[in-house]
Amino acid sequence: MSSSDPRRQIPRTDALLADPAIAVLAAELGDAVVRAVLSDSTARARAFELPADGVREHALAALQRLRSNPTTMRPVLNATGVIVHTNLGRAPLSPAAVAALVVAAGYVDVEFDLTSGLRADRGRGTLAALLAAVPGAEAALVVNNAAGALSLATTALAQGRELIVSRGELVEIGDGFRIPDLIASTGVVLREVGTTNRTHPGDYEAALGPASAAILKVHPSNYRVQGFTREVAIAECARLARGHGIPLIADIGSGVLRPDPLLPQEPDAARTLADGADLVICSGDKLLGGPQAGLLLGRSELIQRLRRHPLARAFRADKLTLAALEATLRGPRPPVGQALHSDPVELARRTEALRAGLVAARPDLADHAKVVPADGAIGGGGGPGVALPGWALSVSGLPLPAQVLSARLRTGTPALVARNDGGCTLIDLRAVPAAEDAVVLACLQAALAGDH
Ligand SMILES: *Cc1c(COP(=O)(O)O)cnc(C)c1O
Repeated sequence: MSSSDPRRQIPRTDALLADPAIAVLAAELGDAVVRAVLSDSTARARAFELPADGVREHALAALQRLRSNPTTMRPVLNATGVIVHTNLGRAPLSPAAVAALVVAAGYVDVEFDLTSGLRADRGRGTLAALLAAVPGAEAALVVNNAAGALSLATTALAQGRELIVSRGELVEIGDGFRIPDLIASTGVVLREVGTTNRTHPGDYEAALGPASAAILKVHPSNYRVQGFTREVAIAECARLARGHGIPLIADIGSGVLRPDPLLPQEPDAARTLADGADLVICSGDKLLGGPQAGLLLGRSELIQRLRRHPLARAFRADKLTLAALEATLRGPRPPVGQALHSDPVELARRTEALRAGLVAARPDLADHAKVVPADGAIGGGGGPGVALPGWALSVSGLPLPAQVLSARLRTGTPALVARNDGGCTLIDLRAVPAAEDAVVLACLQAALAGDH
């Protein structure tokens, strides 16, 4: 390195660490993180990607970003119109649930009675909220997720014996996760009855015998069997199970607790219990709109058996989950419910405003941005085939290919995931909080200009 080499001007790590602004961030983020950032910034200066006198600013900007988001996960604006998007983390939490997470992050009385100073039932406030939401349930239990709830229930109630399930209900949820494989892995013998499209009460009756431990009903939450079909209703299965002195377990999937007029096909916990199911299983982060969790509701005696099973500890819900779930249950309608019940007129108004904002900034795009009818979807969370009427901004016919525009939107800040439909990029505001519409516009303008 010659004496005139600009790289001689690159500040030393020690000098940067002594910088008051950087020292403050080091106290917050930890030395190791700060050293890694400084080493990255100085390496860039050595590679001539940064001027030597820009190292401090570059490092400070990176540290500020880390302070506002200390993870590698990036927030995403979901403009796909798919409400419960598994790849985007399913349900976004309500502000109440987010506030609950912050409270539960510290020491909390999750398993402690402050009056007596003694140990108390874990998550009792959450269970009370669940029982208040579903008064027909005698007792409740919360575990990690619905798959955990199902494993615990089949292990505790049917291990070494037979579980009777219709062939029309052998569901694969996604990413290769198959309910029959899960059940078989718990050492339960799966006794399949009926056919893919038709199962009759007589099919269950013929299978019931001394080896039967329970009947399982699984809601086909992500597909529909249409045409020449027959399924045996919960009430009929409950009657058959009772006749043999065994429980009926119902995996209803999406976590609708009470009937919703928008989802007439979706079983809800209250109705399923009223129809005679002994144990209902569902997810917390699908249509319920809460954190990832598996909810078990039903007869006290069964819930007690699950609670006391050694595996219960392995599926135990975290205090953060319990807090966010309680706030979701007690609080206002969470984002999933809001997106589901979005008024199409309001969606049209927001989409028109987005278009107007874009065209005001870019009059040349007037013929390329249109408000078009577009159905939203519930997604992996349930309601297969349910189309939610709404609107989207369709951007098309640009020299910029739709794939490139979508890729720029995804890699912008914040990231925005749109829907590709042929040569069009569709921006659907259904699952975007209305307060973020201006951010969507900014993302779109940046991506169209290519400057982010
Ligand atoms: C989604 C789903 C599950 C799995 O739920 P997780 O909470 O993801 O574990 C199980 N059964 C049905 C019917 C489902 O829809």
